[in-house]
Amino acid sequence: MNSASAPLLAARNLRKYFPVKAQWIGAPRLTVQAVDDVSFAIAAGETLGIVGESGCGKSTTGRLLMHLIKPDSGDIRFAGKPIVADDPSGLRELRRHMQMVFQDSYASLNPRLSVQDSIAFGPRSHGAPREKARRKARELLSLVKLDPDQFGPRYPHELSGGQRQRVNFARALALEPKLVILDEAVSALDKSIEAQVLNLLMDLKRELGLTYLFISHDLNVVQYVSDRVLVMYLGKVVEIGPVDEIYHRPRHPYTQALLASRPSLDPDIKIKESPLVGDPPNPINPPSGCRFRTRCPYAEAVCAEKEPLLISAAHIDELAVACHLQSPQSGHSKAAAPS
Ligand code: SF4
Repeated sequence: MNSASAPLLAARNLRKYFPVKAQWIGAPRLTVQAVDDVSFAIAAGETLGIVGESGCGKSTTGRLLMHLIKPDSGDIRFAGKPIVADDPSGLRELRRHMQMVFQDSYASLNPRLSVQDSIAFGPRSHGAPREKARRKARELLSLVKLDPDQFGPRYPHELSGGQRQRVNFARALALEPKLVILDEAVSALDKSIEAQVLNLLMDLKRELGLTYLFISHDLNVVQYVSDRVLVMYLGKVVEIGPVDEIYHRPRHPYTQALLASRPSLDPDIKIKESPLVGDPPNPINPPSGCRFRTRCPYAEAVCAEKEPLLISAAHIDELAVACHLQSPQSGHSKAAAPS
């Protein structure tokens, strides 16, 4: 993100704990700490990728931003204005500017509506006359490279997964949003279709001046589309920065392990042993201090005692890491010396 530009979207200290159903009467009240004290910003025109293992809180973060679920605490601002969860007209306005596309292309579409009626639904519900909304739907079908005459009258079950996801993009664009949250939006597609859809997303971003939040477990895809990348572990941001810094010089031991575990694009190169062993700990009762310490090869006593804060790296714009190794005063025996 260009530090001179004001962010289009800014989240500060977002928190969401989900209560767990008690197993017996009088059992202690437990919560899953899905998103805990998450802060970041997205500049207009950039793509911010969010990566992390399943259950790390990346999809919950996307839903919190859209207010599909209500945060327990924290502050979200769009174009400088605070978003108030209890203000229906504010949320309606927000959803004009921010749209979300999900992984399941079929579940997102009404099976009883034709493709063009599905796309026209948003403009219609915002007061556009039927003919105008229909015209818009046809234009959007062309934009996502589907022939309106051929695909407009069809129903979702008559389309392939890739075609349905194109319709979902068209639907998301119908209200001319500024920001689109793509939550595993290409993950269910075949690899050959995925590449075409990713290129379409990049073209749409350029043509329409869009901003993307791209949530995915696929590190290769995130590297391909993102300007900056945010890495989450067990509900926390552990590292955020420009895509090349994150992928070529990862600082956080979790980012290092995650990248070292990814399958190579070269079939002749095989990972000998995964550096990321075991599953993440239970988010109901996460480890004290650094949440990654139970899987980190550099963990020391200080890592259990003190939570590492997200600290901006010296000399590298927009990079921040939450690890005691990066802080000379942390008390970790291998902490970086001050430069
Ligand atoms: Fe590992 Fe400690 Fe850094 Fe956590 S704070 S990643 S346990 S070295």
